[in-house]
Amino acid sequence: MERVYNFSAGPSALPVEVLETAQKEMLCYGDTGMSVMEMSHRSAAFADILAQTKADYKELMQVPDNYEILFLQGGGSTQFSMIPLNLMTDHHRADYIQTGNWAKKAYQEAVKVGDAKVIASSEDKTYTYIPKFDASLMRNDIDYLYICVNNTIYGTRFRPDNLPTVPANVPLVADMSSNILSEVYDVSKFGLIFAGAQKNMGPAGVVAVIIRKDLLGRAAVDIPAMLNYQIHADKDSCYNTPPCYSIYICGLVYKWLKKLGGVPAMEAINKEKAAKLYDFLDNSKLFKGTVVPEARSLMNVPFVTGDADLDAQFVKESKAAGLENLKGHRTVGGMRASIYNAMPMAGVDALIDFMKRFEMAH
Ligand code: PMP
Repeated sequence: MERVYNFSAGPSALPVEVLETAQKEMLCYGDTGMSVMEMSHRSAAFADILAQTKADYKELMQVPDNYEILFLQGGGSTQFSMIPLNLMTDHHRADYIQTGNWAKKAYQEAVKVGDAKVIASSEDKTYTYIPKFDASLMRNDIDYLYICVNNTIYGTRFRPDNLPTVPANVPLVADMSSNILSEVYDVSKFGLIFAGAQKNMGPAGVVAVIIRKDLLGRAAVDIPAMLNYQIHADKDSCYNTPPCYSIYICGLVYKWLKKLGGVPAMEAINKEKAAKLYDFLDNSKLFKGTVVPEARSLMNVPFVTGDADLDAQFVKESKAAGLENLKGHRTVGGMRASIYNAMPMAGVDALIDFMKRFEMAH
């Protein structure tokens, strides 16, 4: 059986090189005589894996020293609760920009904790654009402003040059689950960045959190220990058994990325891949991208033919051609190609070739 081009939005394709290394090291990691899956999280071997993985992530993301990096469990969705529980503690108030389902879910969890408010939204046009942000929209005395940087379902993104500008005393909190490590963002502009691993960084089961150190320790002591950033920071992500194997695979992905030239090199490749696909969509007589050009994601590219039956036929035939998981999210229909870091240029070329043939036939 040959490997397919997997356009899944998540969990998603991993670099073949990473899978091969994991395969080689599956039974015996180094000189330990055991698999990383079988190792104590308190062992010297795992301590090295965790320390190296953290150091490589710090280097790749250019994380300043006044930030802590945590590898936690519970996926992106647990962050929706941890963020308000840990940060909405001074004024008990936070503002949210709603650019899709994931931002909405984050807001819905925040409402359970305190006074959360949606101050800008693109829901009126099915989240096909990024709403204009003006600092005057923010309320006074908020504990943070929350954004979802890349909107996996709708294929929009806040570009690095289009992030909301916030006053120094308002931390910008960001969900980067679906575009982490895909292009350069300046970490110092954020109070907290989190990313579930299973799209651009590794397998499901781990979420990486970058948090400015002055934001630790703000939670009430009676919140559950597992939801307290300070406790995880004090124990260097080993308060309880961490998702050891997922962390190890993230480490292999970071090594792969470093060898490639890091995030700037990846960004150049991603921009070329995305431009190819968007150019094709812009010039196609059959297919149409659904997002306004200035908000287009480099990672998730939704498109339609305008005919639901033809869309379904496209998904079916593309699958037969070895192009997997092109069906759009159930809430929007149509198609979506997720072209994360691990999708090679050849995969994008194969998709465009197939689209050309489909267009000729229809
Ligand atoms: N945020 C974004 C941007 C996502 O795409 C997703 C998952 N698709 C989530 C959060 C939720 O992540 P999880 O399933 O790990 O809870």
